[in-house]
Amino acid sequence: MTDRENVEKLARMIGFRTVSAQPDSFFEMAPFLELQDYLQEVFPAVHKYFKREIISRGSLLYTLPGSNPSLKPIMLTAHLDVVPAEEGEKWPHHPFKGIIEDGRVWGRGSVDYKIGVAGMLQACEDILNAGFKPDRSILLAFGHDEETGGVNGAAETVSLLRYRNIQLSSVLDEGGYIYSLPWLREDAAVIGLAEKGYLTLKLIARGEQGHASVPGIRTAAGVLGECLSSLEKNQMPVRLSEPVERMFKATKHLLNDSLREELVSLSLSEMTNIIEKWSIGNAFIRTTTATTMLQGSSRENILPAEAVALVNFRSVPGDHSNDIVNHVKEIAFPLGVEVEFEDIRKVFEPSSEASTETDDYRSICEAVEEIWPGLAVAPGIFPAATDSRHYGQIADNVYRFVPAHLGETGLGVLHSEGESVSVEDYLNAVDFYALYIRKMCGE
Ligand SMILES: [Zn+2]
Repeated sequence: MTDRENVEKLARMIGFRTVSAQPDSFFEMAPFLELQDYLQEVFPAVHKYFKREIISRGSLLYTLPGSNPSLKPIMLTAHLDVVPAEEGEKWPHHPFKGIIEDGRVWGRGSVDYKIGVAGMLQACEDILNAGFKPDRSILLAFGHDEETGGVNGAAETVSLLRYRNIQLSSVLDEGGYIYSLPWLREDAAVIGLAEKGYLTLKLIARGEQGHASVPGIRTAAGVLGECLSSLEKNQMPVRLSEPVERMFKATKHLLNDSLREELVSLSLSEMTNIIEKWSIGNAFIRTTTATTMLQGSSRENILPAEAVALVNFRSVPGDHSNDIVNHVKEIAFPLGVEVEFEDIRKVFEPSSEASTETDDYRSICEAVEEIWPGLAVAPGIFPAATDSRHYGQIADNVYRFVPAHLGETGLGVLHSEGESVSVEDYLNAVDFYALYIRKMCGE
């Protein structure tokens, strides 16, 4: 197989419109089934040696038993589903054609997260063809509904593995990248040791419904606006989790020169003050506050009886959802604004923090260092959520790293128009996964 043929497999995979839908809405399963057939066709060695199981019709679980059953298995996981994409002017290339141009593979899912599905399968194909026999069992798990919470994919996979009494040494999932952080002069590989929690609150301000010609001094919408503005001005306090503190320390020597002059002592508190000005910096160091949905009256000349906002919080390790609710109530109640959970089932606390004192973590770091010599490697956290909220239940540790450069756009590239990955990154990703597996499973 040539590099070109390998890259074309990733490109072809983008052509399957595996868009996941919210639970309770129509789920178009055909592209997932077609993709399953395609994977069988282009990864013959994997399908010969691994056992493949289909979970909830759309998710895949591959198992290659190791020769030493006393070693806990490792799992590498990615997801098959993608968020929707409308073709249009903002896409330089069609989102579902998998165009290879300018040294990049373009399309929805290229980074999030078909680079993982293709990269992991190709890595296994390569090592199997080279005659590699693992001592430790290898599991590959590819969910089909990660973008909508993973309840049918990852959660069901976990139920099955739990039934079989399988405890994993570790899971390698998405959630750390090779970042171009705006305060650093060089890229850094950040391995996510934890992911943030999730909470959406509903804020309701009530008023008199009536004619807009006689509104009185205060309106429901005005009160709600004041409350939302106050929430932005009174953010949750900075909370430096251990992984982020370690990330700052490990990358201090790469700080932008201009920043070095600004920072007198290079102390952590000084750094957090500076870094919070960037959205990614802010997301690393505190529970974020984002007003996302607003509702008032349906007519321009009617005052709303209630004005409603949904505010989404992503909590850093150390902040519990109760802390956030109390913080919001302190601001909302004096204004007469009510606070409710939008959906209590969608509340997640931040994950636990993975250990860096494991062979699994060391193997990830070594593989990165071998493939990108000189690249800084640091622990960190992932500001969003992944299927690992499920897999973490049966794993000693979860590590989050996708071997791809996000570039200036940062995490914004994941669901953006123009999502793409460089051909070089993809080929390196294949080598990275192969190296990681070899280190963990016997060589
Ligand atoms: Zn993803």
